[in-house]
Amino acid sequence: MKKKSVLAICAHPDDLEFGCTITVKRLIEQGYKVYYVIATNGENGFKKTIESRQHRIAIRKKEQLAAAKKIGIEKVIFLGYKDGFIEYKETLRKRLTILIKQIKPEIVFSFDPANQEFSSLNLFHRDHRVVGLAAFDACFAAKNNFIYPHKNGACKVDKIYFYGSNNPNYYTNITREIEFKLEVLSCHESQFSNFNEFTERFKERIAQQSKKYKYSEAFRVIEVVNLT
Ligand SMILES: [Zn+2]
Repeated sequence: MKKKSVLAICAHPDDLEFGCTITVKRLIEQGYKVYYVIATNGENGFKKTIESRQHRIAIRKKEQLAAAKKIGIEKVIFLGYKDGFIEYKETLRKRLTILIKQIKPEIVFSFDPANQEFSSLNLFHRDHRVVGLAAFDACFAAKNNFIYPHKNGACKVDKIYFYGSNNPNYYTNITREIEFKLEVLSCHESQFSNFNEFTERFKERIAQQSKKYKYSEAFRVIEVVNLT
């Protein structure tokens, strides 16, 4: 039997480590093959000044690959868009749809396109909004044979897990693995000016997410149902 798979889509290197790394790790432990799609190069989110754009791209790529290796990601696919400038264009939706048709994931992870409250500059980053919307639309297009036809045929994903959602309805208890989540996050060295200080703030922030668990990853999960 073909191994089950998961496709996790994000805008920048580190988004998935913030959003869903332990939940993804659990799926890998259950036997899923997990593929990461990183839409932009992340070259404009740096704590230090590094003049060469190519050098910044290389650093972020290396950090993302190191983080993915820690949890056993099958493959990291870099789409190579410019950080801070990604547009919702036909080509973006098409590329994501084709990836879904090729990989045939049961589960897709993405930013929540329903997040439109603009209450946080980081969370409502333009790239996050654009990629979340395109990923959602790609899940629709992928279950259709005629929109972007592919030799593998259509693919209906079963569930979409939206991380970074303002309206979560599902929590993964990560209390026992919080230190491991931080270890994976620490691969993104270029993103932290003081990792120890970040650790404290981060733990405080995610401790407020769920009443049930000390530390959790929170999602809005939707099931994709066929009406006809
Ligand atoms: Zn981001």
